[in-house]
Amino acid sequence: MMRILVIEDEPRLQRNLAKALREEGYAVDTASDGDDGALKAADHDYDAIVLDVMLPKLDGWGVLAQLRATKRTPVLLLTARDSSSDRVRGLDTGADDYLVKPFDLAELLARVRALIRRSNGQPKPELILGDVVINLPTRLVSRAGVAVTLTAREFAILEYLALHRGEVVTRSALYEHLFDENEDTLSNLLDVHIFSIRKKLGRDLITTRRGQGYCIEA
Ligand code: CA
Repeated sequence: MMRILVIEDEPRLQRNLAKALREEGYAVDTASDGDDGALKAADHDYDAIVLDVMLPKLDGWGVLAQLRATKRTPVLLLTARDSSSDRVRGLDTGADDYLVKPFDLAELLARVRALIRRSNGQPKPELILGDVVINLPTRLVSRAGVAVTLTAREFAILEYLALHRGEVVTRSALYEHLFDENEDTLSNLLDVHIFSIRKKLGRDLITTRRGQGYCIEA
């Protein structure tokens, strides 16, 4: 399971952030001041950190500087105002992305997902799922040693599920990641692709979790 640290001193926002992230399936730790946050960030290897700039004891810049001395954990910075100097400073100091308060929770979740995806950007070239082998750089897929031809979309769905194996990927997450917002997608299109992948690679590769989404078992 992916683990996220939220460093935010405003209780209500911290609670809302933690709740929203947990609903997305992340494990969430929280810290209410910079000292505690820096300590936790040093102690655990989080998949991502959501870091407020204005914090008691040690501000977000201080937390970021301490963290960057030892770790590359992806950091999403929450800045209080739309000040371009804050943004530049954030990215200079080693933040990976930033959001200006107030922000939309859905936007934050999307940014966190993108950060984690990017930080996992150098996966092993081959993913082995039973008798199915996915070569990521060449985008070649084989089953029991025999090459299988997937469409680009099928490959994208398979790749995404495989990179998140062991997790249930919601339909909306798949749509968000794989379909351009300008594309006019029918809600059942995903099922068509999944059906086709199963036909080519075996029925058991992708599990349907009714009402939740899809999963490739770890
Ligand atoms: Ca604050």
